[in-house]
Amino acid sequence: MSGNELIYINDAFESNWIAPLGPNVDAFEREIANYVGVSEAVAVSSGTAAIHLALSLLEVKKGDKVFCSTLTFVASANPILYQGAEPVFIDSEPDTWNMSPQALKRALQESFNEGIIPKAVIVVNLYGQSAKMDEIVSICNQYDVPIIEDAAESLGSTYKDKASGTFGKFGVFSFNGNKIITTSSGGMLVSDEKELLNKARFLATQAKDPAPHYQHSTVGFNYRMSNILAGIGRAQLEVLEERVLARRLIFERYKHELGSIPGIKFMPELSNTNSNRWLTALTIDEKIAGISKDYVLNSLADENIEARPVWKPLHMQPLFEGARFYLHSENINISEHLFTTGMCLPSGSNITDGDQMRIINCIKDCLKISV
Ligand SMILES: *Cc1c(COP(=O)(O)O)cnc(C)c1O
Repeated sequence: MSGNELIYINDAFESNWIAPLGPNVDAFEREIANYVGVSEAVAVSSGTAAIHLALSLLEVKKGDKVFCSTLTFVASANPILYQGAEPVFIDSEPDTWNMSPQALKRALQESFNEGIIPKAVIVVNLYGQSAKMDEIVSICNQYDVPIIEDAAESLGSTYKDKASGTFGKFGVFSFNGNKIITTSSGGMLVSDEKELLNKARFLATQAKDPAPHYQHSTVGFNYRMSNILAGIGRAQLEVLEERVLARRLIFERYKHELGSIPGIKFMPELSNTNSNRWLTALTIDEKIAGISKDYVLNSLADENIEARPVWKPLHMQPLFEGARFYLHSENINISEHLFTTGMCLPSGSNITDGDQMRIINCIKDCLKISV
């Protein structure tokens, strides 16, 4: 927390707006919309809820196909299953670790030839790094398929000076406890299409028809954000830029200390993009470094340092067994390679220099590099 959260929480208490609506919710929506440069934002209970609402607005139904990046957290794709639709997973490419435009193109061509057009493409910006949006937007436009940009991890990042989360028909942010700014739990759906987002508000509040009695003609959800949590979000948004700078500095320090070790490669940053570096991620090539990423993870754990492997690709998850998956190119599986070799280092905005050096030295120790 930054300190100012209590001011906004007090406002909520003093005005007795203890509900999933109120002045903090309205203000937080406006502030996020202004920050990323879209006309409308809807505050919801989680990033997952925002993705689910986007799919509902696109009328994704049972039997429909929805394409999705494979290298991501399960929440990107779970709402596809909520709608009874079928996920098709798209491999990563090496420059951003995100959705491979050439794999996406092949998948769309094949679907088109089979007479099936997917209802949406969910593009994820992994660990803060934007996907190759120019290429992806152009391919999706060619087939007239709407994009949902899962920017849960990339709030504060930019692609060619435009805010992450503003490239699709819908953008999604998360304020879960682990994200760069948090409301403890929460999310935001953004778009330039006001009417659709008004419908999102309707769906997110149990789809109450305009009638004095309780009348319902469509399925709704209870997905709105609490006015108390929106107060936390307003204060957090004030420190977002600071957080991005802090995380980028943490990344730079890791890279400065470890980047020249043979076999270690840091997650790249595409030119003309600015990643919030939500998590510092790297790969370890065992053949060159002499040790595996699992060895490093275990050594860090022995020192009570929590590091993690990168997300396990969704096409490898038992939950999605049998789902179609499109490789970056024939015989080149980028996401599985990243999963086998990749890990994330502790990257909290408030990590101390001393703690970061302890982590760095532990990794150097593993690699038998004199500290
Ligand atoms: C965190 C996250 C989500 C889900 O957000 P919640 O607010 O936790 O529901 C979705 N996609 C990605 C890529 C995430 O990292």
